[in-house]
Amino acid sequence: MSRLDQTPYAIDPYDCGCTECILRDYVPLRDATDEQIAQMLTGELRNNTSTEFRISAEWSLSDGFRPGAATVSSVQVTAEIWGGLTLTWDLTDHLDGPLGRLFDPDATDDR
Ligand SMILES: [Zn+2]
Repeated sequence: MSRLDQTPYAIDPYDCGCTECILRDYVPLRDATDEQIAQMLTGELRNNTSTEFRISAEWSLSDGFRPGAATVSSVQVTAEIWGGLTLTWDLTDHLDGPLGRLFDPDATDDR
């Protein structure tokens, strides 16, 4: 059975062309989707990239100024590959479930 439509197990280096990447058991970083980067941050996908990721999150605070009142409103991840090539993933649409709880432990899955 083809694995083309299945979730890979790991994210490999940027331009990896190993057998697993060809078979889509792994995905090279250059092809990683926002959803796959979100899964990597929560540990659902292994990180084989040897790449430093920078994560920036924005929180909204609308319910007074007390600890825990802020909710995460956007998350972006960037990685500098080489020669000034920077990849960016916007994970804002993937804050439901495990990723959202990384930034907001009180978050529920159904917001
Ligand atoms: Zn590979």
